[in-house]
Amino acid sequence: MQQRKIVIAIDGPSGAGKSTVARGVAERLGYLYVDSGAMYRAVAWAAGEQGIPCDDAERVAGLTAGLRIDLEKAPNGVRVLANGRDVTAAIRAPEVSHGASVVATHAAVREQLVAQQRRIGAAGGIVMEGRDIGSVVFPGAELKIFLDASVEERARRRYLQQREMGVESALERTRKEVEERDHRDATREVSPLVRAADAVYLDTTALTADEVVQVIVRLAEKKVEESKSGRV
Ligand code: C5P
Repeated sequence: MQQRKIVIAIDGPSGAGKSTVARGVAERLGYLYVDSGAMYRAVAWAAGEQGIPCDDAERVAGLTAGLRIDLEKAPNGVRVLANGRDVTAAIRAPEVSHGASVVATHAAVREQLVAQQRRIGAAGGIVMEGRDIGSVVFPGAELKIFLDASVEERARRRYLQQREMGVESALERTRKEVEERDHRDATREVSPLVRAADAVYLDTTALTADEVVQVIVRLAEKKVEESKSGRV
């Protein structure tokens, strides 16, 4: 019999290592990896292209309705397409990070993206990372992880990631941006970043990505075993 495939939700603040870890877990388990943040980023990018201010809830919601977002598997990660245009690199710019956290405060934008995320994950066998995956998108996910790290470490990781992508920045500025985005994500009215009551909390400050992947893979295997024996 084929092994049952579960839904793994990974949430946490910016720079906690969600993307690297979620991708690693998906690879180890042969699951699909979905970066839900890339979808909010694609909306912010498209708003910029069309000259729509990210805080204009109505127009951004209208824009989202007409935007087709595709996340495709690519050799070095995921390719993000917005209406067929490759925006993989463009959506990582600091101003798009900021814009994403603004468009993410609009209920009508979230509803549309959440519906799409649920469709993608309906069959299970998925590792989805974001801010509200365990709390809103898949409240019934078999495994929920909340990844965290100190703000210094998260800013350092973001800074190194940006430098790797050729984005000019300064550590202190990155730290301020991370803190500002965390604050907006945690205090917004709709689906704020929260730790679901049944999520496993992992502080990754002193851990390597590989170590975190191992912990999560072990937890996932346990969940699959439990569900086979009817204990879930
Ligand atoms: O994860 P990433 O940093 O790429 O996400 C960009 C922004 O998108 C976040 O700061 C957050 O405001 C928003 N987001 C969200 N819900 C998700 C994923 C991302 O609100 N599930």
